[in-house]
Amino acid sequence: MAYMDIEHNLLNVRERIAQACARVKRSPEDVEIVAVTKYVSLATTQAAIEAGIRHLGESRTQDAIPKWNALGADAAVWHFIGHLQTNKVREMIGRFPYVHSLDRLSLATELNRRGVAAGVTTKCFLQVNISGEESKHGLAPEEAADFLNAVHNLTHLEVIGLMTMAPYTENPEETRPVFQGLRELRDRLQEKNIPNAPLAHLSMGMSNDYEIAVEEGATFIRLGSTLVGDERE
Ligand SMILES: *Cc1c(COP(=O)(O)O)cnc(C)c1O
Repeated sequence: MAYMDIEHNLLNVRERIAQACARVKRSPEDVEIVAVTKYVSLATTQAAIEAGIRHLGESRTQDAIPKWNALGADAAVWHFIGHLQTNKVREMIGRFPYVHSLDRLSLATELNRRGVAAGVTTKCFLQVNISGEESKHGLAPEEAADFLNAVHNLTHLEVIGLMTMAPYTENPEETRPVFQGLRELRDRLQEKNIPNAPLAHLSMGMSNDYEIAVEEGATFIRLGSTLVGDERE
């Protein structure tokens, strides 16, 4: 996708975010756009950066690492948003300061172990399966508090928030209970004052449903197709 098209899409997305924020009296500055470039070329990813994108999201290590190596640490703030295999952590540490898909203790301990060795702290979102769909990764909501307690003494891991994915629906309004559920879970967990889990952030909302997610409190939205397109054959 060309620079001009991404610039146009970005203007449109920013306008919609502003409108969603106005409806619920939030500040648009509190909503960060992560451009999901998993289905687009390196050239399109570069065009997105030129168009003003600061945060990039990738979901497969085999694509993410070559892209990172081509563009470098300073080109963007790098987010890993897909399922992360423990044996890939070594390569991700020092490249991806944000991981949105923390979903098991073995991953937390490996991110911490490699982080200690490299002197790098990873900002993580705990992925929660609010919708209960079997195909989705993530902890069940009732497992979240125990998980946070179990990782609170890992020095090189910071759980900055919760992440969820809503089921795809023709009518995005149907996703609202999922996003509300994540926010309410976050509020309940915050009341427990678990150390090392400030949970200031909510990573939720994709191309189909981001306006609803913003209305429900998203601070990071992950946008692929509506922003940079989908260049798969
Ligand atoms: C692919 C992906 C997105 C972006 O999807 P779009 O519908 O194209 O915006 C967001 N989050 C995750 C975890 C993804 O895998």
